[in-house]
Amino acid sequence: MIIVLRKDADKAQLDHLKDWLNSKEVEIEQITGSQSTVLGLVGDTSHIDIELLEALDIVESVKRIQEPYKKANRKFHPADSVIDIGHGVKIGKGRFTLIAGPCSVESEKQICDIARDVKASGATVLRGGAFKPRTSPYSFQGLRANGIELLQEAKEKVGIPIVTEIMDLSQLPLFDNVDIIQVGARNMQNFELLKALGKIDKPILLKRGLSATIQELLMSAEYIMAGGNEKVILCERGIRTFETATRNTLDLSAVPVLKEKTHLPVIIDPSHATGIAAMVKPMSLAAVAAGADGLIIEVHNDPPHALCDGQQSITPKMFDELAGQVGTLYNAVKEMY
Ligand code: PEP
Ligand code: MN
Repeated sequence: MIIVLRKDADKAQLDHLKDWLNSKEVEIEQITGSQSTVLGLVGDTSHIDIELLEALDIVESVKRIQEPYKKANRKFHPADSVIDIGHGVKIGKGRFTLIAGPCSVESEKQICDIARDVKASGATVLRGGAFKPRTSPYSFQGLRANGIELLQEAKEKVGIPIVTEIMDLSQLPLFDNVDIIQVGARNMQNFELLKALGKIDKPILLKRGLSATIQELLMSAEYIMAGGNEKVILCERGIRTFETATRNTLDLSAVPVLKEKTHLPVIIDPSHATGIAAMVKPMSLAAVAAGADGLIIEVHNDPPHALCDGQQSITPKMFDELAGQVGTLYNAVKEMY
């Protein structure tokens, strides 16, 4: 971090600033020029509040050289992280993970039938929303606690780990038998929730916010990791742009950007990214080619009658075909990464 001081910086204020910086355990290199004085900070500056520095009278500008995230940073952890989900499933380098299931859990039969189908096609994790973040309060809000019970039933009957979304901290006790807790796009910056999930020992699927930058996504991952839970899986699910032809715009470049910046696994959600069932296949294949570690796909056995997101849900038959194609493509490109 580089701090440029104002020309007329008061000596007492400067000494005070240096004392404060020393207490943050960073080394200070001072360069005193005829026009301005610069402080170069060496060491871990991730816990220094840049806005606080910028607000000081004697400071002209501050430039961060190092990223503000540490635990998620590949610089401090060069090897790719592989997250153990349990039940023999891992997510991260060396394998391509397919997570599939309906947008929402609707009934015991629906979730168990889809679980059986997607497992037979090669999915190793079942998705299904119980608590649904809906734009309208009049839309189906999910089966809530009962939805989690039905997912657990599918998990036991079919033998497949489950991922489902938490919307509020008060729901956490219901997630004991959930294998991966999803933090949805709308909660990516619910910092109290992230902090609480940092204190538990369970994989977290963190989805990128609708208008969040990649750095903001990584800072949210950092919130979880700073608490001690380093089992974070990142998910790009499309961002808001001016384009309206698709529900969101799938930022596939997030895959190579994230791969450079972090060691955490990165998966793609082509369903929420495009909002169109026919677009799920091409964007899934593109995600494989871009170097993603997996996909999370909405699959429904009766899309026209789905209680949520039917327009973007593919059928088990389409998923089966896609899973085969993804496997073929992954085998062709995996040595390239
Ligand atoms: C979901 O996966 O069901 C979901 C609501 O996704 P997102 O948070 O990405 O909108
Ligand atoms: Mn959905």
